[in-house]
Amino acid sequence: MLQTQEPTAAPGGTGGGPEVEALHFHRCAWCRSAAERSRTLCRVCGSSEMDEERSEGSGAISWTTRVVRTQDLVHRIRQTCFVALDEGFTVPATVEAQAIEPLPTGTRVRLAGLGPDEKAAVFVPA
Ligand SMILES: [Zn+2]
Repeated sequence: MLQTQEPTAAPGGTGGGPEVEALHFHRCAWCRSAAERSRTLCRVCGSSEMDEERSEGSGAISWTTRVVRTQDLVHRIRQTCFVALDEGFTVPATVEAQAIEPLPTGTRVRLAGLGPDEKAAVFVPA
């Protein structure tokens, strides 16, 4: 097991709102390219020196893989897709929305929370 858990002792800067789990990513120490946190090598220059940074959690749907509708979610959709964060990296995501049709590519979304095991972060329309 990798010990990646950090103490969440960030001094409150968001004005007292409930703390939303943050999405972290890697930024290359050499060329400043952003990469998914799971990456250990920069895909641009191959450096292994990666700084961990915290994403603002805003991005846009880059592509959708599937939409799940159930009897319980008639007017809600749960869309499995990838979200391209403004920092320049992409994460697998689940977008939950009050909608019937899938949200189109390019829809602005914001982070609502991290799913179990951080496999797919949960986003909602921004
Ligand atoms: Zn690099």
